[in-house]
Amino acid sequence: MGIEAALPTDSLLTTQFHRVANWARRSSVWPMPFATACCGIELMATACSRFDLARFGAEVMRFSPRQSDLMIVAGRISVKMLPVLQRIYMQMAEPKWVISMGACASTGGVFDTYAVVQGVDQFIPVDVYVPGCPPRPEMLIEGIMAIQRIIDNDNLPRDPDGKRLPLQLAVKPNFQPAPQPVEVSIGAS
Ligand code: SF4
Repeated sequence: MGIEAALPTDSLLTTQFHRVANWARRSSVWPMPFATACCGIELMATACSRFDLARFGAEVMRFSPRQSDLMIVAGRISVKMLPVLQRIYMQMAEPKWVISMGACASTGGVFDTYAVVQGVDQFIPVDVYVPGCPPRPEMLIEGIMAIQRIIDNDNLPRDPDGKRLPLQLAVKPNFQPAPQPVEVSIGAS
């Protein structure tokens, strides 16, 4: 069963420890969903059967920061909520990564008000921005795959003082809206 059936039983494989650790990490990313608004619904859809985030080993949403290594900020963050976001980020296990999902998390979106944070990257290090309002599940999957590539490359930049630097990569939109399947008309039938 599996690859071990095709290989001789006395096979030996040599590699470097960090490659095995990174392979294990990127194959089992455990997200911490920080979903506060409509983007959270797309995040839920990403984990459901149609998009099946489990194909990428990242469907195990953890609601304990101690068991998570990928924070997904999905939705607008109010100033009042910000200390909670920061505390959860700080409680997450190292190494950890952050996705800012949607216009609100990345820029405040249309909520240009004193009560809404105008981009979470001002307060926590964001590695990948997923654009859209809301981004479709395919976009979020692109973002998670970008994180997996970062993990594969052992890419955790730090400044000379050891402080984690954000990668700040933006995912390109990958979805073309399809025309309506039926003509939409308004009026008396
Ligand atoms: S980016 Fe759009 S979909 Fe996402 S939380 Fe903001 S308003 Fe809602």
